[in-house]
Amino acid sequence: MISNRVKDLKESATLKINAQVNALKAEGKTIYNMTAGEPDFPPPAEAKRAVMDAVEKNLSKYTPTAGIPELRKLIAENANSQHPELAKTNPWKPSEVVVSNGGKQAIFDAILALINPGDEVVFGAPYWLSYPEMVKVADGKSVVIPTLLARDYKFSAQELEHVLTPRSKLLILNSPSNPTGTIYDRTELQAIGAVLARHPQVWILSDEIYDRIDFDGKWCSFLDACPELRDRTVTVNGLSKSGAMTGWRIGWSIAPQTLTSALISLQGHSTSGISSLSQAAAVAALKLPRENFAPFLKEYLHRRSLALEVLGKSAKIKVYEPAGAFYLFLDVREVLREKQNADGFAEKVLQDIQVAVVSGVDFGAPTCIRLSFATDEETIRTACERLADYCR
Ligand code: GLU
Repeated sequence: MISNRVKDLKESATLKINAQVNALKAEGKTIYNMTAGEPDFPPPAEAKRAVMDAVEKNLSKYTPTAGIPELRKLIAENANSQHPELAKTNPWKPSEVVVSNGGKQAIFDAILALINPGDEVVFGAPYWLSYPEMVKVADGKSVVIPTLLARDYKFSAQELEHVLTPRSKLLILNSPSNPTGTIYDRTELQAIGAVLARHPQVWILSDEIYDRIDFDGKWCSFLDACPELRDRTVTVNGLSKSGAMTGWRIGWSIAPQTLTSALISLQGHSTSGISSLSQAAAVAALKLPRENFAPFLKEYLHRRSLALEVLGKSAKIKVYEPAGAFYLFLDVREVLREKQNADGFAEKVLQDIQVAVVSGVDFGAPTCIRLSFATDEETIRTACERLADYCR
């Protein structure tokens, strides 16, 4: 009954486990939840007020499919201030922005708009678990480049060149990365850009949703490193992580005009655009100075140190110290039982020690688990202590 396109899709493991944990909590169970990549901070007061004002003003009608003009303009302006080199010669225009239902829809639509059946989409593993599923919907073929903890979970420009073929159509970059927190620096991105210059049929989707969570100041936007690839790059961002507004579903793409027009057509026939109230909130949030984010970054840094210190008590867990985002990616292969993978391990720790983590299986890393430290200190401390004891 279900179409071939959809029948083999996996349910999103991140959303599924988070919902399971919330259901267990609603039953009164105590669970130490480190699953969802969802900041525990409230949204900015200015954004909340803007929504209330919008309700009062009856802003309840359809908005233009691509987003309200003020919001598209602000997004383009922010992008230009982030890419001063690019802005000097070829600044982003509001007409190149599409406001979408979270960064997720922007990625999904870009894949649908670019991929023909059989086209290859390249990305590194561990990867965000929705990429391969989105590629499946588009009848594309995922080409995965394995990476190693010992090499900071990054692939090199040479490794990329090795997998590119005439069928390669899209490279997905996600820096800072979900689930590993690795960051590609400017030099590494330039080396990747040099390879892409030799493969003009390949588009780039740069998923930059975690850009503000950069612990060592090494993060670089892809187009800042490779401005010459502007004509075939789509950059995705949003306010879910930086604005702590996951439920308000505010994301966007910035892309050359031809792709943007296709994305608008697609969005016009699927969601029509995002909620008018969320767009009002987004305008208010984007007017806030970037410095407003500094306290959050400091708090994430503190939480990262706490988690690393506690997990360090078990020599059997191999932890990657993330350079950005708010995830810890743990290799637990030394403590897996025979025939057990991370799915089984995640189920056991939920049952035995009430700690909820996401299995790495769907991230393309079957011996790993992901912990989100976008949660309170008490949860982080208890969950990590329990995990470290369990693994000892
Ligand atoms: N991106 C977040 C995560 O990985 C939210 C859930 C999702 O959309 O996958 O936890």
